[in-house]
Amino acid sequence: MIKKISYCLIFGLFFSITTSGMEYNSNRIKYHSHLHSESSYQHAWCSAHNGIEEYENKDKTRIDCLTCTHAVEFDFANKWAESIGQAEHYAFMTGKKGMVVLILENPKKEMIYFKRVKTLGQIYNFDTEYVTLDILNITNGKCQYKDCKCNKYK
Ligand SMILES: [Zn+2]
Repeated sequence: MIKKISYCLIFGLFFSITTSGMEYNSNRIKYHSHLHSESSYQHAWCSAHNGIEEYENKDKTRIDCLTCTHAVEFDFANKWAESIGQAEHYAFMTGKKGMVVLILENPKKEMIYFKRVKTLGQIYNFDTEYVTLDILNITNGKCQYKDCKCNKYK
């Protein structure tokens, strides 16, 4: 019995270290590699899908993009887990289908996060898509959105 408990403690400790290590890594991705603002991807995708940006729900939460069929949440890959909760909440608030659009600035490294979200979407009935830098039509390192951080810092 005691042996079993201590095994659990050790395993639990090991697991918490591994988990916090993962969080640390995802934060590093966040601070080091986001060249453009999340809103720029949102602008590009939402206008292409004739959606309404920043649609306000009755509970004052805001949907990144509301289309005629979907309530859509945008997030960078490292926020894949939060994106699901938000998309599901927006679906509940609007009666539309939830959708997560995950932003992959480094698709080779980050596709694993999209696959996670996609798998959960098939089980829990929300749609998933990903976008990459391509959607921003970048020329000379800058996108067309004035509120993007690529246009604020030189
Ligand atoms: Zn930009």
